[in-house]
Amino acid sequence: MKITQAEYVISAVGPAQYPVDGLPEIALAGRSNVGKSSFINKILNRRNLVRTSEKPGKTQKLNYFIVNHAFYFVDVPGYGYAKVSKKDKEAWGRMLETYFSEREPLKAVVQLVDLRHPPSKEDIQMHDYLAYFGHPVITVATKSDKVPRSKHQKHKQIIKKALGLQADDPFLIFSSLNGTGKDEAWQALEPYLH
Ligand code: GDP
Repeated sequence: MKITQAEYVISAVGPAQYPVDGLPEIALAGRSNVGKSSFINKILNRRNLVRTSEKPGKTQKLNYFIVNHAFYFVDVPGYGYAKVSKKDKEAWGRMLETYFSEREPLKAVVQLVDLRHPPSKEDIQMHDYLAYFGHPVITVATKSDKVPRSKHQKHKQIIKKALGLQADDPFLIFSSLNGTGKDEAWQALEPYLH
């Protein structure tokens, strides 16, 4: 994918701020610190479009980025950060429920997990939640540079099993450090960008 344009558009807390142009949306979800911002920057060839390593749990909004004037990446605030208050967690849950239950331009969700570890309880919950709403999910296991290549397939199978993925469900191994999986990510996204 040749990236000709990538820009931050808006932080939305609810439908009143969602774009109204109807362009396709790809949402990106994952545990805080999993490497979601790095993934977005890497596949868009932008060093710092999405700020990495912000205080986890701070961004409680849906951050919209427009790409090639043709589709949106929607950065969903990370989950699993222990220090978030109950009140903030509930607000986060409501925001996600509104978005995932009724957002018509949403075409697919990229769920980031860490290739090093089995999925957390929250990773599994999020996967089930997205499947419940019927959204196509592309699972991206990132930080693969931190796992010896000889162990990639083993870790992949552990993650797929824990998430209940079928053999042919889209799953890719990624690294923001060395670009592993970048072309595969665009291949997996391509059907949803139009
Ligand atoms: P986010 O909270 O999910 O947006 O995570 P970030 O993208 O901010 O990444 C969290 C930390 O993991 C940062 O220190 C990144 O530099 C690091 N990181 C992210 N992706 C990778 C990766 O593919 N490989 C390695 N080695 N580190 C990564």
